[in-house]
Amino acid sequence: MNHIEEKIIQTIDEHREEIIALAKDIQSHPEPGFYEERTAAHVAAFLRGLGLRVHGGLARTGVRAEWMEQDGPNVTIIGELDAIGCKSHPMADPVNGTAHACGHHAQIAAMIGAALALTNEEVQASLSGSVSFFAVPAEEYIDADKRAWLRKEGIGFPASGKSELIRLGEFDHSDIILTTHVHMMQVEEDFYLGNAACNGFSAERVTVRGKAAHAAIDPWDGVNALSITSSAIQMMGLMRETFREEDHVRLHNVIRKAGDVINVVPDEAVIETKVRAASLDAIRATQEKMDRAYDGAAYAFGGTIEREPLQGYMPILHRGADKVMEESVKLLDASYRCSKPADFNNACTDVGDLTHLFPVLNFTFGGFAGKLHGADFKIMDEELAYIKPAKLLALTTYRLLCDQAKEAKKICREFKPVFNKETYCQYIRDNFHENE
Ligand SMILES: [Zn+2]
Repeated sequence: MNHIEEKIIQTIDEHREEIIALAKDIQSHPEPGFYEERTAAHVAAFLRGLGLRVHGGLARTGVRAEWMEQDGPNVTIIGELDAIGCKSHPMADPVNGTAHACGHHAQIAAMIGAALALTNEEVQASLSGSVSFFAVPAEEYIDADKRAWLRKEGIGFPASGKSELIRLGEFDHSDIILTTHVHMMQVEEDFYLGNAACNGFSAERVTVRGKAAHAAIDPWDGVNALSITSSAIQMMGLMRETFREEDHVRLHNVIRKAGDVINVVPDEAVIETKVRAASLDAIRATQEKMDRAYDGAAYAFGGTIEREPLQGYMPILHRGADKVMEESVKLLDASYRCSKPADFNNACTDVGDLTHLFPVLNFTFGGFAGKLHGADFKIMDEELAYIKPAKLLALTTYRLLCDQAKEAKKICREFKPVFNKETYCQYIRDNFHENE
């Protein structure tokens, strides 16, 4: 361990209580996606206190602090601001119904801890590049009604915070992105290094239109929207045998409405259909099958279908553990394992969108008990959940940017993006916002 690495670890240790207090404060005041005002204000105040230039109100609540004066690559460290709807959690907010049952407060603590270390004068002077600390809104799923409202408020891509921030150009200066999360798969070790592949998804809200008629006197004059819906869902079930294992397809339906009163043939049904798969092509192909099921059922009964496509998240493109991260974790008293190409995380996250544009260096950490998004989720080990992740973020950033940023430049050179900002935004518009 060299002198700068010692300094990073020592600085974070010196501020241990402060970092833990901030984590607990955020945990005690959970807020839903795009409404994380209190959390954002606390993060902004803390970063401002470190002498950083802070920009707030990005995609409503995002906060980015940085020093941009230095030449060289930019490393952007991300922390997610939002909590998840989980009313039964003992720490749920009684009004908004959310709780930090996905550990995002720990990510914020880690980012803040890294900022404390990296803004140390001696540490900063050793870096050939710039660092941004970016607290981003709305990682968790935003439902269709809330999206419609957010669009009226001027959020162009209301599906997720990171997507909207890409659209707004708030990642334009980022070259490498560092993300963290509590473990999302079964991992026994303290740290899991790398980004496991995970599904992306897209969704749609489907309105089935039939025709009302008296259910007893003249049902033959009606077109039953519930029958169309249940037939379509039946067909989707039979189509499951066409799903390939390697595509990891998951399919979910929720019927929001299917008729009004029992003695009238239901003339309107509203369904949300969500397709998860491991590639954009597999998502699109599966979505087309679901659309055929709706169209076919509507044709059979003589009804019609209206669709509102709902943008989801892109899949995570697997990235193995980078050398800079693995060398850094060895300086901590912690166990770890590295991501393998065969690892697969069945959840979805909007980090997937970022992996289509940037090299995203990621690790996950333990220190908690219970289930993600569950009422029993709780932090058990503050050192492992808040302090060690801060050290790993800061040490990794140091290794990326020390020595004329040799490692960061190499990662940027070798990375092949699927999209740039413009083609990404075009893809989203073409698939989800056609009418603009
Ligand atoms: Zn999460």
